[in-house]
Formats: sequence, structure tokens, C-alpha cells
Amino acid sequence: MATIGWIGLGNMGRPMTKNLVAAGHTVTGFDVVEAAVTAAAEDGVTPAGSIAEAVAGADIVFTMLPKGEHARAVYLDEGGVFASASTSTLLVDSSTIDFDSARALHAAAHERGFRFIDGPVSGGVGGAQAGTLTFMLGGADDVIAEARPVIEAMAGNIFHAGGEAAGQAAKIVNNMQLAISLQGVVEGAVLAQRFGLDPKVFFDITSVSSGDSWPLRSWYPVPGVVETSPSEREFAPGFSTMLMHKDLGLALAGAQTQDVELPAASLVYEKLQQLIDDGWGNHDTSILIRNVDPESKGLPKTP
Ligand code: NAD
Repeated sequence: MATIGWIGLGNMGRPMTKNLVAAGHTVTGFDVVEAAVTAAAEDGVTPAGSIAEAVAGADIVFTMLPKGEHARAVYLDEGGVFASASTSTLLVDSSTIDFDSARALHAAAHERGFRFIDGPVSGGVGGAQAGTLTFMLGGADDVIAEARPVIEAMAGNIFHAGGEAAGQAAKIVNNMQLAISLQGVVEGAVLAQRFGLDPKVFFDITSVSSGDSWPLRSWYPVPGVVETSPSEREFAPGFSTMLMHKDLGLALAGAQTQDVELPAASLVYEKLQQLIDDGWGNHDTSILIRNVDPESKGLPKTP
């Protein structure tokens, strides 16, 4: 069993550490929000008062932070992971961050003699609680092999996506594709209804035809069609508009540095921004239907 340091005990970090503890690992956790540390302690995580305390004596350290700026600060700042951990400690950043920050962290780790993996996850809070997250890992083969047995306690699928930052790349592109397909689904759902089609009949046809997609089958944005869809529960998340906006922003930032134009992603990014500006940021991202038809069935009246 491993001695694990954990930094970032939020919506994802807390259930992930709970599963590590349940698997028999020793986990010491730190968060800037004291209440998050206290809550994790209830699940058997040893509370730490600083990054240095969390990483002391750890075989492996995970970070689960909001964005690239937080990850950079936690690794690079004075009193951060690189300054505090032993170079024998394996480092895994599971936050979803921009491609360039992930590459910068790999480079900084390499310079200082650390083994480092970028390992974002997909599967949401539900997957974190169930220990069924999909991990997308970027790094060297031997380092990934070393981390795998620990990651298994939190994962349903573990993919070695490639070299440095490949995990972030896979995650960013996947979510960009999801956002664009979802925009197609919300536009389709509205137009089908305006044409007079019954939503369930249209769904039955398109879900076995060439218009089928994952968001269509999982998040059909009109109630009475897909039982698990957020439209059945006033668009409670699920996957929030804010998180999708963040992930699309990562795709657009990456596209800029890679010199690629992403017109569809840019459009959906604007549509998500509009929802956030109107107060719908904490609703499920399938509330994108509101931009097409604010009167669509199942939509809450106020944010
Ligand atoms: P969250 O905001 O709930 O948790 C992040 C935690 O990091 C917070 O508790 C915050 O206090 C802590 N933190 C920030 N700066 C810190 C610092 N300097 N030192 C220590 N702790 C610090 O976010 P989350 O939902 O747990 O998501 C974490 C990451 O996982 C994000 O990158 C997110 O995009 C990604 N993700 C989230 C989901 C989801 O459904 N929530 C799904 C997949 C991936």
C-alpha cells in the first residue's frame, strides 16, 4: 500500500481520496479551504496544514485543482510541491488544465529530477464517488506503470494517451467534440419539434440513424425522452455550463498556440458564455437549448 499526498480536496478530490483510503492506502490531504480538509478527514484522510506537510514522505502525490494557474502555483511557488517533495516522489496532476501549462509542468519537473504525469479524468463527481473515473495519462511508460496500481482504486478505465501533456490533450479534444455535438442536438431537438415531430418518435429514429451521438442518447434536452437526461430534473447538473465553458476555453487556447481554427468550438463557447452571463452557469450544459428556444419544455423559469 502506498503513502499518498493529495492537494485539492474539492468536489472531485474528496471522493477520490475516500476511495484511496478504502483501498488501504495512507492519504494525507491539503486544501486552501480548511473546511475541505476537515471534511476529508471524516473519510480517513490525514489532515495537512500545508503542501509541505501533505507531500512529506509520500510515494506519490496527486493534485486535483481547478485550473492551470492553480496547478502552476501549487507546483512552482515557494513552499510548493517541487520545493517541498523529495525527488523520489512520483507526481500526478489530475486537474483538467491547459495544454501549455501541462507541458510547462512536465518541463519543470524534468529539470528538477521529478517523475511527472498529467492525468486528467472524465466521469464527473458520480464517477469519482463510484471509483469508475476514466484516467487519461501523459508521460513516460515506466512512470505510468508505476502509478497505475494506485490509480486503479479510483478508476474504471486507465488510458496511456502518450507522452507529456497527452492526457490533457485527449481530455480537451474529447470535451470539445462533446460540446459541438451537444449544440447539434439542442438545435435538432428544437427544429424537430417545430416541424411537429413528437420528441420521443424523433429520438427513436435519430438514435439509430446517422444523427446519433452520445449527448443525444444521454442528455436529450427535452423531458419525456431519456430518463437520465438533466432535462428531466430542471437541468440540474450533471456537467455544468461553467465546466463545459472552461473546457472549451482550454480547446480554444490550445488551438491558438497550435495555429488551428475552430469555428464550431468558438460558436459554442460564445453560446455558453451567454448562458453564464444570464445566470445559468451552474445548470447542466444541455441547457444550451435555452439559447435556441427559451420556452422549451422542462426549462426552469429563473436561474
Ligand atoms: P473544486 O473547485 O470543487 O475543487 C478544487 C479544490 O482545489 C478546491 O477545494 C480548492 O480550494 C482547491 N485549491 C485551489 N487552489 C489551491 C491551492 N493553491 N492549494 C490547495 N488547494 C487548492 O473542483 P473539482 O470539481 O474538484 O474539479 C477539480 C478538477 O477536476 C478541475 O480541473 C475540473 O475541471 C476537473 N474535473 C471536474 C469534474 C467535475 O464534474 N467536477 C469532472 C472531470 C474533471
